[in-house]
Parts: sequence; C-alpha cells; structure tokens
Amino acid sequence: MSVGNEDIPASARLRLDGAALVANWNALDRLSGSASAGAAVKADGYGLGARGVTKRLIAAGCRDFYVANWQEASDIADLIAGDARISVLNGVQDSEMPAALASPAKPVLNSLEQARRWRDTGRPCDLMINSGMNRLGINPDQLAQAELDQLDIDMVMSHLASADEDVDQNADQLSEFREALQQVSARRISFANSAGIALGEDYHFDATRPGLALYGGQPRAELKDHIEQVAWPECQIVQIRQLRSGDRLGYNARYIAEDDHPVAILAMGYADGYLRSFAGSGYFVADGQKLPVLGRISMDLTAVDIRSASALAEGDWLGCGYDLPDASVASGLSQYELLTNLGQRFARDWTDTP
Ligand SMILES: *Cc1c(COP(=O)(O)O)cnc(C)c1O
Repeated sequence: MSVGNEDIPASARLRLDGAALVANWNALDRLSGSASAGAAVKADGYGLGARGVTKRLIAAGCRDFYVANWQEASDIADLIAGDARISVLNGVQDSEMPAALASPAKPVLNSLEQARRWRDTGRPCDLMINSGMNRLGINPDQLAQAELDQLDIDMVMSHLASADEDVDQNADQLSEFREALQQVSARRISFANSAGIALGEDYHFDATRPGLALYGGQPRAELKDHIEQVAWPECQIVQIRQLRSGDRLGYNARYIAEDDHPVAILAMGYADGYLRSFAGSGYFVADGQKLPVLGRISMDLTAVDIRSASALAEGDWLGCGYDLPDASVASGLSQYELLTNLGQRFARDWTDTP
C-alpha cells in the first residue's frame, strides 16, 4: 500500500506565527503615521508563503501588496478583493503584456519604454522614479516626456538604498524625490520600505511598503521594540549518539570531541537554507537550553551538543535559534537572506486560523 505524499510527515517544519505577523503589520502601519502601510510579499512572502501572508494581512486591513513579477501576482490574485491592489515591481516587458492584461495587478513602470507599452491600455499603473539608487526607475530628467502624460498613475514611488544606515544618502534621495514629484501627477505617493518607516514622518508620504519587518526583521534599532519573530524553524532528531573523547564528527572532521558526550543529529541542513556559515555560531533549543552546532553542517543534517539536555530522544523536536538580527550576526547572512533561504522541505505551519 502506498502512502500519499501529503500523509508523509515532514521532519522539519517552519512554525509561522500569524498573530505576530499581524501585530508587526499593525505596528508598522501605526509607525507610518498618516500614511497607510502595504506589504511586500515578493519572493513568496520572503520565503514564508505569499498566500498565507496575504490572506492574513488582507484580513488585518492591508490594501497594497507588492510582488516582483507577474507570476507572483498570479499566485495571490484570487485573494485580492474589493479595494485591495497588487503592484508588480519589476514592471512589464513585451513578452509579459498578455499576462499583464489578464491580471488585476498594476505594473510599476520603470522606464519610458514601459510607459509607451502601457499607455494605450488605458489601465492604471504605478511609476517608479530613480532618486539615486540607480536600480529601477525613470530618471527625474525624463519625467517631462510626453509618454507619461497619458498614464493613469495610481502611485508614484521611489526606493531608498540605505535606509538601514544613518548616511547622507537618505536625505539626498528625499530631496531628489520631492523635486521630481513636482513633475508628476498621481493619486498617491510612496517612498519608505521597513527601514524608511523608522526614518520619520518626512519619509512617509501616503503609503509605505514594508517587507522585512513584517516577517520579524529589524533593519534599524528603532524597530526593535515593535517587531516580533514570525518564522520559527524546527526539526526532528533523527539519531542520538555518544561521542568518545577524540572522535571526529562530520565532514572534514571540523569537530573533535575533547571528552565523552552525547550529540543529536538533526533533520535540517544547508539544503533547507541552514547554511554552513552557521557552523561555530548556530544553536538549537530544547527546554530553554541552547545546544551549539558542532562541526560542518551537511546538506540534510546538523549535529548539536546535547550534554545539557541528555533526556532528549530520537524523534524529539528542537527549535532552531533564528531570531533574525542575532542569526544575521551569527551567520554573516543578511536578515533578508535568512528568510528567503528557508527551503521547500519545511512544512509551513501557521499557528493561527486566518
Ligand atoms: C523589496 C522592496 C520593498 C520592501 O523592502 P524591505 O526592506 O523588505 O522593507 C519596498 N519597496 C521596493 C521597491 C522593494 O523592492
């Protein structure tokens, strides 16, 4: 008798705290002052699952959702009802026009070519202005071009390159954006990402676009008291063994036991996004004890020292130390990478009912 894939239990799971996600959005909306906070749900909701995130944030009152491309727009389109909107940040290419015309989402037009492509559709769009990041967006000196006059622009936006740092570039981009705004007419103006919200009122305009902080990231210290962890990786112990002093553990023997002690081998490795850069600094948790990672992390497995939790047994579940600011320092990965690395083998288990 064969067992359906959906009936086979996962040995690693991502516990997703829906109440924390909603609390983070409410906090960011409040911190946005008179502007309303939207939600960047690109890259599958920063790895958590775009549909689960979108459902919960729509129910909480969020109305603007940002994705990278038309496939991502299609993945959540059926959840968007009433006055809620999706913006496609990467704009629209010729090859994407059929998908764009069949979609309820708006493109964020980033160039004059894209404006020419869109103007005859008569449909609403957003417009990205390059205020100094030089990634996507129309340069301010191109805003007088006739292509733009015929557009129905819902939101005009720009994006901050360094809002997580206290550098002149933030104020420089703000004044560049303000000046450019005099040449464009749009229903709404949007500038700030998560970190930009913490830069204060001048950066808020009508709509803010947090991503990282919704999911527990803290790109600036000001957000620390307002943002909670949302994603909690957990995995099962698949074997327990007793090391003897001198035993070599794992690939390339990067750990050699200095005394006799037990280790647990866990069902989570770099293929799950727990990269080898956690070796030497990562830890798991059981009964409030921190269990340090030992040796090299394998593709599917990680070893931890369990001498402080010797009652653990095969099949028990452990939490992974994954507070984003701390894990970022420990691993050298950005808080963004820590989220988007989270692999497809995790069962994504929301702990609330939407
Ligand atoms: C990803 C993105 C955001 C969200 O940024 P966070 O730093 O994750 O808050 C906002 N705006 C644009 C244009 C983006 O690409």
